[in-house]
Amino acid sequence: MKIQESIKKRAGQAPAGSFPAHLYVHLPFCLSRCHYCAFPSIAVAEVPEKEYLTALLTEFRFRRKSWSGSLQPLSTLYFGGGTPSLFSPAFFSEIIDFFAREIGFIDAPELTLEANPADIEETRISGYLAAGINRISLGAQTFSTAGLRLLGRRHSAAMIGRAVSVLRQAQVENLSLDLIYAWPGQRTADLFYDLRKLTELAPEHVSAYSLSFEPGCEITKAVAAGNLQPVGEDLQLEMMHLLEDNLDNAGLCRYEVSNFARSHRWQSRHNLACWQLKDFIGLGAGACGGRYCRKTHEHWVERYSNTPDPNFYMQQLQQVALGSHSEDCAPAAWSLKEFVDFTSSFSEALMLGLRLRHGIDLNSLESEYGSEKVAPVISKAQLLCAEGMLEINNDRLRITDSGLYLTDTIINHLL
Ligand code: SF4
Repeated sequence: MKIQESIKKRAGQAPAGSFPAHLYVHLPFCLSRCHYCAFPSIAVAEVPEKEYLTALLTEFRFRRKSWSGSLQPLSTLYFGGGTPSLFSPAFFSEIIDFFAREIGFIDAPELTLEANPADIEETRISGYLAAGINRISLGAQTFSTAGLRLLGRRHSAAMIGRAVSVLRQAQVENLSLDLIYAWPGQRTADLFYDLRKLTELAPEHVSAYSLSFEPGCEITKAVAAGNLQPVGEDLQLEMMHLLEDNLDNAGLCRYEVSNFARSHRWQSRHNLACWQLKDFIGLGAGACGGRYCRKTHEHWVERYSNTPDPNFYMQQLQQVALGSHSEDCAPAAWSLKEFVDFTSSFSEALMLGLRLRHGIDLNSLESEYGSEKVAPVISKAQLLCAEGMLEINNDRLRITDSGLYLTDTIINHLL
């Protein structure tokens, strides 16, 4: 796999720190809107690459200045969207070079790009790899033509297979496929077909989410109007079992409730960092970031979320880039700051930790939040351990296979 020379040269040269940094870049542009989408993104005919790049670099400089303590070399960099594969290789080359110069990367970083199967073609992919991208997350979603139409995806089922073969020919070793299941009208036979097609493509990683009905989406409106029928709970449960059995048979092991990997090596390092509540920076319209600051019990974690409106975001940052320091374009105008208190932070750590199949380390949890928080959880957990829903092994608390489908209920019981 090619890694851009500038990254190689700088690997390991940045100052060492207590943990590596994780950076997310949101690219909120799509050619059309999918019917289930609640992500911050807008439909455009052409992405404003230049303006958006300037805005991202300007935001980065601001975040860097306001980040107290040393900024670590990047361990993971994730380009999500929106549809990042609408952006040219030159865009990624420029921004990755910029991060390499400004903060550096650790040795063997993970650089992910989300892509739509319709955008995959040889020259573009070679360009992405040359820029330093080494992991592609492909939004397959389903191999059913009816399903793709219902979800409002702009790619066809045939494009998925074609895209994977182009990616493999280009030497992409780390490929993740996204799957959506339990969409209205889907039967177990349809999901079985999807899983067969998906496993034939032998991805290193799979993210599989049941369709959720978010407010304001086309599909949610159709359900509310009685034009579509959501999949019932029993069928959803059957589908979850089918999913696990088929992926497991194909050598893809569940490591988080909705995520599967061929081995530890192929787990998403970026997502693991988010689930383990590591500090991270988010850049772009609709992005968020956060860090532990532990100032007071009311001010334990600091988070920010940027305006979801890409045009407003670019406008404001253009003013900053031009040297205007007016209050109107200061980050306070486009980025919302939020403080998470100690108790909410503990709940988040427990919730996200228990979604991981290897569970949560009780010693680390206790050293962060104290025994007064952890002891009641352990005592509530004992009952569920006796019922076979939870287990405590080597000071790790985890949900068992029997408890997996009751994850939310178990977490609510513990909190
Ligand atoms: S491609 Fe992704 S971000 Fe864009 S509309 Fe579809 S689901 Fe939303």
